[in-house]
Amino acid sequence: MENIILDGKQTSKDLVEEIKAKFDKNPTTKKLAIISVGDDYGSAVYCNMKKKKSEYCGIGCEVFHFENDAKGEDIEELVKKLSIDDNFAGIMIQHPLPKHIDEQKCFNLIPPEKDVDGLSAASFGLIAQGRQLFAPATALGIMKLFEAYNISLVGETVLMIGKSQIVGLPLSVMLMKAGATVTVAHSRTKNLADMVKNFKIVIVAIGKSELVKADWFEEGQIIVDAGYNEGNIGDVDHNAYAKASYYTPVPGGVGPMTIASLLDQTSKAINILENK
Ligand code: NAP
Repeated sequence: MENIILDGKQTSKDLVEEIKAKFDKNPTTKKLAIISVGDDYGSAVYCNMKKKKSEYCGIGCEVFHFENDAKGEDIEELVKKLSIDDNFAGIMIQHPLPKHIDEQKCFNLIPPEKDVDGLSAASFGLIAQGRQLFAPATALGIMKLFEAYNISLVGETVLMIGKSQIVGLPLSVMLMKAGATVTVAHSRTKNLADMVKNFKIVIVAIGKSELVKADWFEEGQIIVDAGYNEGNIGDVDHNAYAKASYYTPVPGGVGPMTIASLLDQTSKAINILENK
């Protein structure tokens, strides 16, 4: 049996180089706006990485940072301003916002053509209607990995474990639209351990270190682990990899695909704005 790594590092590198080549040839003045709030360490690291990669590709990037005590209205006001500012092709709000801010309300103010992180209600609605414009970057990154490795989804059974607004829920709809037969499991699902072996593809995004055990799998399944927990640990027990036909390592699988997908969508948003 083949045991192939779904190499997100290499696949994302290829995608980033493609975007860079496009803007080397046709430079743009349009920018990406990243809004971040508070002092979450992870968020600061991610914002910095996104800014660096964006600038590497030739896309200017401005980070608008608010202190932890910022009001929801401050963020809403900025999103409204950026929405009609032609200098900015894309707007993204770094998740998570502090608890006192209604995060989804802020996401929903981003117009679909600038929603490069794909988290607004409108973007989700377009995906559900089969008119996807922009999708949540991690979900899109996983779809791009399937594509890069010619893994066909048509008619295949997929178990999506996790149904968050950021990953599991939109991804389950995207998989369905791509022709897969999708089952969604979550924290209330009964007998998860017995279910896993029945699916060709198992995707996990729950945020619980190695909760999905190696002995839940059978030989030859495709394992995609979006989990990223303290100590570089995924949501799937890494001993499961040896049984898989294809698998994403943690780190170096799904993670790198997220930023590359954000930049891919920003590049498309620039096209939209420049051709308005
Ligand atoms: P989240 O918002 O906390 O959602 C977790 C989901 O997992 C929920 O749907 C929850 O079910 C389900 N769940 C929790 N415990 C479960 C259990 N014991 N059995 C089955 N389902 C369970 O998390 P998220 O934002 O989707 O993130 C999930 C993971 O992906 C995290 O490790 C995160 O770090 C990672 N992630 C990585 C990237 C990246 O770029 N690499 C980006 C985003 C997220 P209920 O809905 O029933 O509560």
